[in-house]
Amino acid sequence: MQALVFSGFDHTAVRDWPEPSAGQGEVILRVAAAGLCGTDRHIADGSYTARSPVVLGHEVAGIVIATGTGVKRLQIGDRVSVDPNLSCGACAYCHSGRPHLCEQLASFGVTRDGGLAPYMAVPESQCHRIPDGLATEAAILAEPLSCVVHALDRVHVWSGMTAAVWGLGTAGIMMIQCLRALGVTSITGVSHRAEHREKALRVGATAVLATDSASGLFVDLAVEASGSLSAFESALGSLRKGGELLVYGVANPEDAASVHPQRLFRDEISIVSSFVGPYTMDRALHLLAAGTVDPSVVLGDAVTLREAADWVVKSGPSRNAKVYAVF
Ligand SMILES: [Zn+2]
Ligand SMILES: [Zn+2]
Repeated sequence: MQALVFSGFDHTAVRDWPEPSAGQGEVILRVAAAGLCGTDRHIADGSYTARSPVVLGHEVAGIVIATGTGVKRLQIGDRVSVDPNLSCGACAYCHSGRPHLCEQLASFGVTRDGGLAPYMAVPESQCHRIPDGLATEAAILAEPLSCVVHALDRVHVWSGMTAAVWGLGTAGIMMIQCLRALGVTSITGVSHRAEHREKALRVGATAVLATDSASGLFVDLAVEASGSLSAFESALGSLRKGGELLVYGVANPEDAASVHPQRLFRDEISIVSSFVGPYTMDRALHLLAAGTVDPSVVLGDAVTLREAADWVVKSGPSRNAKVYAVF
């Protein structure tokens, strides 16, 4: 089969790859769609560590076409979305209910072959049934949304609060829809891209600002979802007393910021981070099926595997919203 393979820095391309077979407890998916995300670009340019070679693709939805021995719950024909994060189940973090912090954390599309290929082998335990009424392709959003759901679990959200979101890509737009549903009445979206600001207004932001005019904000919750150091600093600077900064974007590893501990102390400011989405895949699928997070505003261009390769190595045309490969 043809797959999009990362083979080391500057070597990400479509190439021949063996078709997977189902091991014990695994199913084979006919991949319907696999989303592309900034993490894939970070892997390709060497700024996010991955195995090499590895098939990329960690936002995957498909149909079960074969089941290995020991598979009990899933059947051929089931539509599923994949939780890409695999934990060992045996380390201190796993034993304390935090599998996403596992010392041996593995991830499809990062350390194990992912879904940017027509077929993928996945343990049954990593598969989540797609609710009726939600299109299979739309279910690729369950993974990025599961991360948003986990992030919002980690901060205090209350009705009538004020919030601002820096970075209005897929995560920022889904974050705004969730904040709106949770009763946040004032949500400012911040981005340097006019089309992203327009989309934020469509999904419920009450105001939008260009990045360079975002000083003067004064909010209870500031979400940094862009990965930019300057956004981190303005988000932290925007907090009211008792406020929380949610660190969500993937920053460059060499970025460093300075904070003022006395201000954190005197104003009871909290800095909270979140990483991936443990136990939140089913909630994400239900938010999508219910339309609380509208897949149609988040899904962008459907592309071929070759076009996906171009996007990941930043050589193709610029694309709208969540780009995804279809098979
Ligand atoms: Zn992703
Ligand atoms: Zn573990």
